[in-house]
Amino acid sequence: MLSKEELERIITVNPPSSKDITKEKVIDMLYESRALIKGHYELLSGDHSDIFFRFGLIARHNGYRGIIAKEIAKKFKKDYPDAIMAPITAGGSLLVELTSVLESRPINIEKDDKGKPSHLQDGYFINKGDRILIVNDLTNTGSGLRMMINIAKQNEAKLIGIGLFLSRSDKVIQDLKQEGINIHVLVNLKVEQWKREDCTLCKEGVKLEYSRNLNI
Ligand SMILES: [Zn+2]
Repeated sequence: MLSKEELERIITVNPPSSKDITKEKVIDMLYESRALIKGHYELLSGDHSDIFFRFGLIARHNGYRGIIAKEIAKKFKKDYPDAIMAPITAGGSLLVELTSVLESRPINIEKDDKGKPSHLQDGYFINKGDRILIVNDLTNTGSGLRMMINIAKQNEAKLIGIGLFLSRSDKVIQDLKQEGINIHVLVNLKVEQWKREDCTLCKEGVKLEYSRNLNI
């Protein structure tokens, strides 16, 4: 697990001085829940990294989940979402909390066998013109978010924004902002990741763990 000093170095919190979710509070959440782990991981994108994030460990803590949902809700309350879309299961617990706070309908998105959001779960629907907020625990390459944006578009819904707990890539967030998407991320994680063929941990024979098996 990572020490509080290591966490201090690799995260930034937006906004930095909100009363409920200060950097110190986020470090406490990550430290107490052990949601950031150190080892040798293959991310869903196929890249390798020595740091992995497991939102499920934070989300199982009612207090932490509530603080995160409240913070995301604050950003999008004025946009009155009709429905909130999230992939199950990692984003799912946040979805339940947010639909309650924002009095919106849930839209559960199923994942494919690679762990990427792919289609509407049976029984969930999108109305034409629905004002949709997308939420998730984290983004890395942005491909999962783009898949959900497409599902909203195909159903002629209106995307009002995207709320995330954490991002591994500032570029992905900036690109989405440039496209005019109202996206809010609570925590930026500054960690390295690299192509499998460039991975020194692979060359050293360090045991590899696959993120799809760790996403709880
Ligand atoms: Zn590797």
